[in-house]
Amino acid sequence: MIRTGLPLAFRFRESPQGGMEEIAYLCHRAVYSGRSGYQRIDVVDTLAHGRMLFLDGIAQSAESDEFIYHEVLVHPALFSLQRPRSVLVIGGAEGATIREVLRHPTVERVVMVDIDGELVEVCRKHLPQWHRGSFDDPRVEIVIGDGRRYVADARESFDAVILDLSDPEEGSPAQLLFTREFYRLVRDRLKPGGTLSVQGEGIGPGDISLHARMKNTLEDVFPRVMVCPYTLPSFHRADAHILAATDPLWSLDALARRMESSGMELRYLSASFAQGMFLLPAYVTQAYKIHNDILTDNSIGASDHP
Ligand code: SAM
Repeated sequence: MIRTGLPLAFRFRESPQGGMEEIAYLCHRAVYSGRSGYQRIDVVDTLAHGRMLFLDGIAQSAESDEFIYHEVLVHPALFSLQRPRSVLVIGGAEGATIREVLRHPTVERVVMVDIDGELVEVCRKHLPQWHRGSFDDPRVEIVIGDGRRYVADARESFDAVILDLSDPEEGSPAQLLFTREFYRLVRDRLKPGGTLSVQGEGIGPGDISLHARMKNTLEDVFPRVMVCPYTLPSFHRADAHILAATDPLWSLDALARRMESSGMELRYLSASFAQGMFLLPAYVTQAYKIHNDILTDNSIGASDHP
């Protein structure tokens, strides 16, 4: 629920013990509120985190710290590659994921597939700090449609695929993009040596089961899977992105070397930081053994898939 004029409350995820947690954001302006064919959309100006995007009451991005989320999602995947030329982004309506992809000078083509065209237009209008004109870059093609359908029908191969998706809540259009069947379709669209980067959900001690199952599912499909933890003050939780490589000899040293020699000025990542970027607390690695089931089209509870 979004309330303006008062502290803003947003619905957080269902806690493992059942019930919903709410976090209140003080805001001074409601910028946009509406409902698309897929979700409720709210853009608000908050006191602590600047402008924020909420979908169905769940925070997606904040002006103050979106750079952390988007740098971690994009650059490890692209610096894993010698010359990334073509990138497929699924989701990412804010335009900040393609913004970071376009900073790589070797990139010639970026396809962004988001299911919600109305949301993309809201972001184009109200989140200029996120996309910074990236939607109009001649290297970018925007496709409005279901990401799973796009991958299933595609004949083109990509150097990297980035899944910047909302949570797979029941009834969410993103549900079928978290399963082994989908990850296999993605792997088959990657060029040899290609990488996949995935929004890897929360890794808080009470909140980790979905992340752990995603990691195990990706390991069932890809020979190398690394997890990069990070914290967004605006999300009030610990999160991680997951990097999956088709190259079993994927090397962190090579990634850090490329990051260093690129001269790219990042705000969160750096070559020295990269050396420890995939280190995990013990409870996280323990969780991979506990939540060891694989997410499949049947187990995630959805049917009617391409
Ligand atoms: N930063 C966010 C977070 O922390 O969860 C996620 C970014 S973004 C706003 C999520 C996007 O996924 C939305 O734009 C939504 O429309 C898109 N999406 C959901 N299901 C999809 C699908 N099946 N195909 C393509 N895009 C999808």
